[in-house]
Amino acid sequence: MTDNAEPAVSLTELTASFTELYGNAPEGIWAAPGRVNLIGEYTDFNDGFVMPLALPHTARAAVARRTDGQLRLHSTDVPGGVVSLRVEELAPHSGHGWAAYPAGVVWALREAGHPVTGADIQLTSTVPVGAGLSSSAALEVVTALALNDLFQLGLSAPEIAVLGQRAENAFVGVPCGVMDQMASACCTEGHALYLDTRDLTQRQVPFDLAAHGLQLLVVDTRVKHALGDGAYAERRAGCEAGARALGIGTLRDLPYEDLGAALETLAAAGEDESVVRYVRHVVSDNHRVEQVIALLDAGDVRAAGPVLNEGHVSLRDDLRVSCPELDLVVSAANAAGALGARMTGGGFGGSAIVLVEEATADTVAKAVSEAFTSAGHAAPGVFPAVPSAGALRVAPAA
Ligand code: ADP
Ligand code: MG
Repeated sequence: MTDNAEPAVSLTELTASFTELYGNAPEGIWAAPGRVNLIGEYTDFNDGFVMPLALPHTARAAVARRTDGQLRLHSTDVPGGVVSLRVEELAPHSGHGWAAYPAGVVWALREAGHPVTGADIQLTSTVPVGAGLSSSAALEVVTALALNDLFQLGLSAPEIAVLGQRAENAFVGVPCGVMDQMASACCTEGHALYLDTRDLTQRQVPFDLAAHGLQLLVVDTRVKHALGDGAYAERRAGCEAGARALGIGTLRDLPYEDLGAALETLAAAGEDESVVRYVRHVVSDNHRVEQVIALLDAGDVRAAGPVLNEGHVSLRDDLRVSCPELDLVVSAANAAGALGARMTGGGFGGSAIVLVEEATADTVAKAVSEAFTSAGHAAPGVFPAVPSAGALRVAPAA
């Protein structure tokens, strides 16, 4: 297994490199994690339920305030120098590449009336990029948290998350839900975060895998199929069409008990068969979140395995957002004795999760890697998702 959660850059090194870059020491260092979603996929734009956990992998930001309107951004992970911008000139969809994520946060803060007068920021991250593990949300949340502390803005963790989402939606131009930022901002160690995306009601659900002798493996397929680009918007439109045809505001409003009748109504009304499938996925996945919560609350973590498998089948056959590599992770892991597995995140590549007995984790990881080799795919990245803390200040220590 490859576990790259440990930062390549220590806090001392980050402080030193910031000082060398900008000519003065940072005022502090903050960290915000990537996340993986346990269950509840493509539910967040239907006002539904999700259940992410924070990864031990984090984006860290060394930051110092400026009062002259300058915003200077640097990432140790991106070749190229400092990106220098002026806060009053920040405008949505104006490019800036990777720097649009932290710049978007500054823009969103200022749009909301917060007096952010400039900053020097250096970022460094261990969250795998583009693997569906929310490296982008980690960047947004760490930036927002640092500026919230330094400018004493008094924002709560959920407010920071919503602001990060606004940066990504309106400034960068990516139509994501709020799950990623909420996970990065609000998760706690040893828990999964039950989140009702309608009103951001949340609850920490015990998910201490080690105490149960279990591991949750993340398998990064390291592929990203182009098909995914238009799929999100298409699924979203299909879900909205389904809700409209059923005369409800969002699919969240359809109780699981009424799903069968609703599907018949849609079919009888001549609704597109894809809409029928999407409705079935969203309503059943919301139900699976509730099932998993009940199991975790009861301490029966192993019983969540089959629910993960059902979630995968639904994403593969009803929503049709899986791909051969993700399906291979699930089939190979289960054949090697996993308790359950599913794709996680947007699909068409990215990552899958596998629930395993700690004692068989290495065997299962090896079986998945061998299945990839046999199928002619490059080796996947595999690491345990230890449920970790949400965003926090790491230096100076509070
Ligand atoms: P994901 O959030 O699933 O990892 P996204 O496509 O949403 O994938 O976000 C990835 C983008 O976020 C990268 O292309 C880059 O622009 C930015 N990013 C993530 N991590 C870093 C980093 N450490 N330094 C600079 N930019 C980063
Ligand atoms: Mg992202």
